[in-house]
Amino acid sequence: MEQEPPLVREVFPELIDELVALLEAEGERDLSITVRDVRMVGECGCGDDFCQSIRTADHPDGQPYGPDHRCVPLLPSTGDLILDVVAGRIVYIEVLGRPPMRRPAQQLDLPA
Ligand SMILES: [Zn+2]
Repeated sequence: MEQEPPLVREVFPELIDELVALLEAEGERDLSITVRDVRMVGECGCGDDFCQSIRTADHPDGQPYGPDHRCVPLLPSTGDLILDVVAGRIVYIEVLGRPPMRRPAQQLDLPA
């Protein structure tokens, strides 16, 4: 059996706490619950300095999300946080212009 990717809240707990608060403030109750269980499928990988976006679902490169896609822009105190939601499922967390988040590799280096 393939190992599941880690939960985003285990890798970036502060980010998820912030997203939950922002989603509740926007009245997005369903998303404020499901965001706690999204998994870190991968990083954006675009290489831009200002971008720390996270893929939370497998998605074929270059394919449109389809008609069920919607964008949920949030209002963090710094930078931009935008969720991409397809059919009620969070597939992508756009993290733009934000202070550097602790990376998983650095977290693994910490003493237990
Ligand atoms: Zn990117």
